[in-house]
Amino acid sequence: MQTEYLQFNKRDLSHAGELIRAGELVAFPTETVYGLGANALDENAVAKTYAAKGRPSDNPLIVHICDKSQIYDIASEINDYAKTVIERVMPAPITIVLPKRSVIKDVVTAGLPSVAIRMPQSAEARQFLRAAAVPVSAPSANISGRPSPTTWQRVREDMDGRIAAVLCGAPCEVGIESTVLDLSRQEPIILRPGAVSAEHLSQLLGVQVKLLTDPDSKVNSPGIRYKHYAPKVPMVLALDDDFDKLCAFYDQKVAEGYNPVLWAHDPLRFVGRNAVSMGLDDGDAATKLFETMRMLETKYDFIIAEFCQSKNGIYDGPASRGVLDRLLRACGHNLI
Ligand code: AMP
Ligand code: MG
Repeated sequence: MQTEYLQFNKRDLSHAGELIRAGELVAFPTETVYGLGANALDENAVAKTYAAKGRPSDNPLIVHICDKSQIYDIASEINDYAKTVIERVMPAPITIVLPKRSVIKDVVTAGLPSVAIRMPQSAEARQFLRAAAVPVSAPSANISGRPSPTTWQRVREDMDGRIAAVLCGAPCEVGIESTVLDLSRQEPIILRPGAVSAEHLSQLLGVQVKLLTDPDSKVNSPGIRYKHYAPKVPMVLALDDDFDKLCAFYDQKVAEGYNPVLWAHDPLRFVGRNAVSMGLDDGDAATKLFETMRMLETKYDFIIAEFCQSKNGIYDGPASRGVLDRLLRACGHNLI
């Protein structure tokens, strides 16, 4: 299949919309990461998503909308917490999980009775969704297991020849996937941390919004069981602020014949060693995270990452938990 690379002009947007309604896959930018869109009401189109990504079929997709009224068409039992989030938070880098209506088929939700819904903040994403004129199911537009793409060029690396089109928009500003908030239970719970923090949601909803951290209770968000975001080279993570340990680990890897890199808050500290910045704060770290990961794996053969949340308060903003979650998955919880 020859993939078309489309621009944000009237003609290309309307063509992207036609492709979606014809049951084809179109990758598109959002503020979080690039998505791989399909008509969420067309089972055959949605099935193509799993094939193009090599995604396990028990990992559900998020349904993207551009108008809040669409939520009521695809979800039911919209409780007061959900109403508050819909009214006061959306559009934002947040996905809400609600009981689904029958228009949303099992292929979208991987057989779950609930549906995940997101209304992106990105103007480009909403232009595309308006052109599509149907709810659009979309996971991240990467081969399953790889770091999510935050530029259209990274989508091309993974998806060229596998999908009908890519809408070439701006690089993603948030950089990590949306916060997934389950509102289908009595108490709201975060299934996946993102840029909208637990603290912010707790304050807004007047109830402590917890994060799903117990591995045994992850039944409600099958996707988070899978290995994710893995770079092609080995990676370890240090969560403390131990300069000497990092240097010793680096030197040992050099002695073993590796060309390692330190991915750290302050690369200038590591003079004479390969070092790259993790970001000025947690928001910046999120924005650059996947792009840097994909760059590092091409230049080095061992990644030694450092992320110390308490470090001078630099990494303790709203995106901190989300960045930590992605780093832990990327290194397969391989801590030093
Ligand atoms: P992705 O953004 O590509 O990682 O995929 C969407 C993620 O949203 C999935 O991996 C799940 O973790 C989550 N998700 C989607 N639908 C549901 C649902 N009905 N219930 C719980 N979590 C969901
Ligand atoms: Mg993904």
